[in-house]
Amino acid sequence: MKPKEISLNTPHEESVKSTDKTKNRILPIKHFDKETGDAHANASVETPMRMDAFDMSDKDKIIQIESHFRSIMEVLGLDLTDDSLAGTPQRVANMFVKEIFSGLNPANKPHPALFENKYHYNEMIVEKSITFFSNCEHHFVPIYGKAHVAYFSTGKVIGLSKINRIVQYYAKRPQVQERLTMQIANEMQSVLKTPDVGVIIDATHLCVSSRGVGDTNSQTGTAYFSGKFKDEVIKTEFLNYINANT
Ligand SMILES: [Zn+2]
Repeated sequence: MKPKEISLNTPHEESVKSTDKTKNRILPIKHFDKETGDAHANASVETPMRMDAFDMSDKDKIIQIESHFRSIMEVLGLDLTDDSLAGTPQRVANMFVKEIFSGLNPANKPHPALFENKYHYNEMIVEKSITFFSNCEHHFVPIYGKAHVAYFSTGKVIGLSKINRIVQYYAKRPQVQERLTMQIANEMQSVLKTPDVGVIIDATHLCVSSRGVGDTNSQTGTAYFSGKFKDEVIKTEFLNYINANT
């Protein structure tokens, strides 16, 4: 099957962080492209978290979510004494905390080992088609797709599977695609100490395909280019790698 051609319109600008110490979170820094609708326009690069987000243990979070999710199911009129439903509140609570939202907790952040760039390979390094599953923070239904990540080494290189781990960590949060794109790019810049990073994400949002307008064909593309990737030639080379039929 021929991969879908990916093309880009306006690339996102490099981010400039501004921090409001009183709230301990990074303020919205820019408005994004309107591809995903106005509801997404004010996304900031940091996931909005409360300062007390990790005062409660994972164990206590699971207990509370189980109880709240049980209430939701009861309000919906479901019979929780049914064998098939009885364990659902606990399954959902475990899944939220230990799996699909485990990337909210900095304790789960990957710390990839770096290697010397012994071969002095100074060309673009691309890890393409990294499959990820995330969830839309507006509806809590899945977003899934492919992330393509590229960088130029400034002396260190990262194991390719580690790029995958960075993508998975940021995907395991309630997300908007623009933020996911930027969080991956920012982490790559910070880990590799290079300004030269490109990230492209092509994803399907179930909040668009399975509800709302019910469009089962649309996909959303987001891109972040910084450093050398702002150069049209470099950008085109990256896109060619992604679109290559290999
Ligand atoms: Zn949504």
